[in-house]
Amino acid sequence: MLPYGHQSIDESDIEAVAGVLRGDWLTTGPAVTAFEDDLARISATSGAVSVTSGTAALHVAYAALGVGPGAEVITTALTFVATASCASVLGATIVFADICADTGNLDPQAVSAAMTSRTRVVAGVDYAGHPIDAAALAEVAHRGDALLLEDAAHSIGGSLDGRPVGSLADVTTFSFFPTKNLTTAEGGAVVSLLDDVIDRARSYRGIGLVRDPAVLRSPDEGPWHQEVHAFGLNYRLPDVLCALGSSQLRRLCAFKARRDAITARYNQGLAGIDELRLPTCREGADPMWHLYPLRILDGRRRALFEHLRASGVGVQVNYLPVYRHPVYADLGYQRGMCPVAEDYYQQEISLPMFADLTDLDVDRVIDLIRGFVGA
Ligand SMILES: *Cc1c(COP(=O)(O)O)cnc(C)c1O
Repeated sequence: MLPYGHQSIDESDIEAVAGVLRGDWLTTGPAVTAFEDDLARISATSGAVSVTSGTAALHVAYAALGVGPGAEVITTALTFVATASCASVLGATIVFADICADTGNLDPQAVSAAMTSRTRVVAGVDYAGHPIDAAALAEVAHRGDALLLEDAAHSIGGSLDGRPVGSLADVTTFSFFPTKNLTTAEGGAVVSLLDDVIDRARSYRGIGLVRDPAVLRSPDEGPWHQEVHAFGLNYRLPDVLCALGSSQLRRLCAFKARRDAITARYNQGLAGIDELRLPTCREGADPMWHLYPLRILDGRRRALFEHLRASGVGVQVNYLPVYRHPVYADLGYQRGMCPVAEDYYQQEISLPMFADLTDLDVDRVIDLIRGFVGA
């Protein structure tokens, strides 16, 4: 079975990991600092905090933004559940706003209509790798008492109007799961333009432990002494995985070029078919295509999915509207509340997309789809 997503690991990645294993630091060592510096550099932010997953990154980011009981978080339904559920576990109320039909990204007008005095965070997702309309969303959020979070699990390496993903929103989260644009096996990160958010994120990632004598409440307790000033968790990404991350970041431009080429090949091979809608790219956006989200408009998405799987082609559907997960349905969220996201979900099928995918395989997928729709 051709997978829909797959990591790309080469000898330079293996050497980077082996180098750490031969050294003294398995965790909390220099490879962590180096990876965080690399992340801050490519996202043009002043700081980065590595964590153990994209989910942990969202949890840390929401915590660093002060999300808790009484707060409202406005987000998209067309995302992986963690974008919403990480705010829910902190006690916030989730408000789902609808998406734009072209990109699948959060619609600033829908967000504007959903804003209240309790909104603390607007959380957009760079669906499939296409950056959110960050300027419009930030404007809406900042008009109220809210900050903009960008879940960039799909889009590290992309840019909007010449500015890299990571520097577009107040705070941005990444995922380094194997199917994403680069991998550390499990891993993620938070980057931000706001130094206090980075500080709180770093504290939350490390159980809230304080060692700096300048801020200890009891500096004379003894040389062994450390204190917790705010609650946190252990979300530390070890050196072994950070070294893999730095090595993969060195390959990011090559990954992007290959993903661009695959997208262009699908676009060309599937063009001009009435039943199909191909992914769009807005002016000024340079997406890092994590997915190739094809839409089939004739109601046969499931049949196409089963046909491709039966032909040995791994496909996915991204995503079930989040509020249809039983955990949200049980809280009273109604099916159909975001009609544009519902339509998108009904039509969408994600085709194989990863850096090591060959042109031969792309052409086979194109031929299977053309055959299915009779084109
Ligand atoms: C993958 C993903 C996450 C979670 O990342 P993990 O590393 O798997 O925990 C969050 N949001 C989106 C949009 C994702 O695609």
